[in-house]
Amino acid sequence: MLDLTGKTALVTGIANNRSIAWGIAQQLHAAGADLGVTYLPDAKGKMEKKVKDLVEPLNPSLFLPLNVQNDEQMAETFQAVKAQWGKIDILVHCLAFANRDDLTGDFSATSRQGFQTALDISAYSLVSLANGAKPLMTEGGSIVTLTYLGGVRVVPNYNVMGIAKAALEMNVRYLASEMGAHNIRVNGISAGPIRTLASSAVGGILDMIHHVEEIAPLGRTVTQEEVGKTAAFLCSDLSSGITGQILYVDSGYNIMGM
Ligand code: NAD
Repeated sequence: MLDLTGKTALVTGIANNRSIAWGIAQQLHAAGADLGVTYLPDAKGKMEKKVKDLVEPLNPSLFLPLNVQNDEQMAETFQAVKAQWGKIDILVHCLAFANRDDLTGDFSATSRQGFQTALDISAYSLVSLANGAKPLMTEGGSIVTLTYLGGVRVVPNYNVMGIAKAALEMNVRYLASEMGAHNIRVNGISAGPIRTLASSAVGGILDMIHHVEEIAPLGRTVTQEEVGKTAAFLCSDLSSGITGQILYVDSGYNIMGM
């Protein structure tokens, strides 16, 4: 049985009720996990209020601001985790960012700054979060991140985010290799296209979804709930032998040649 009772889980990347991280948080909560939620702070505090209201029914023990480009906030996050829980069992990395201009048009036009931003927020952040969680995963743990097929194949307009996802997927393997000795497992979920705030920045997201509906064996794209259920599985003991893997939750789209 999928049971996360007594487990502590830090979930990043909830922006609204369409966020994949929201689908994951709901499943972890349903399985009995004690949640900590981080949100991306903004000057007016709008995001804080929005995410706080959304996650209230899940009774998170921790609710913290975290911009992954801010090393101080990163350190404060894990200090707060340590003070509240003393240990951490589950870390969900479910965030990404690239400048909108870099998610359409010619890939070769990507600026140095745009490249660095996308790689820093979308890929390096997994390394820094894993590094913060590692000393607190004293009873072993599970780290899960979100990736997309555009990191292994060319998908129109995905551009620099594809490079970031390629780096992210390799991060999963290096981190899994390093942390296996501590019984910390690291895996990625490669989700099919879903309409969210982040994905709407990618040029032609609706065309991508329609294409999947035509081609994928299941004849549809996936939901946040389906990704959430797989994440809960990867965070639980049911997947105790799985690490360093990228699991496709994409209605089977990735197997098709034509
Ligand atoms: P979303 O917009 O709901 O989530 C993206 C999150 O990233 C937001 O919560 C945002 O606040 C956060 N974020 C951005 N910059 C940040 C920073 N500097 N510090 C901290 N947080 C920051 O969109 P989503 O589609 O749910 O995206 C979640 C993850 O799923 C991303 O890694 C995305 O690439 C991946 N993914 C999405 C799809 C899809 O089609 N939606 C498919 C495969 C993978």
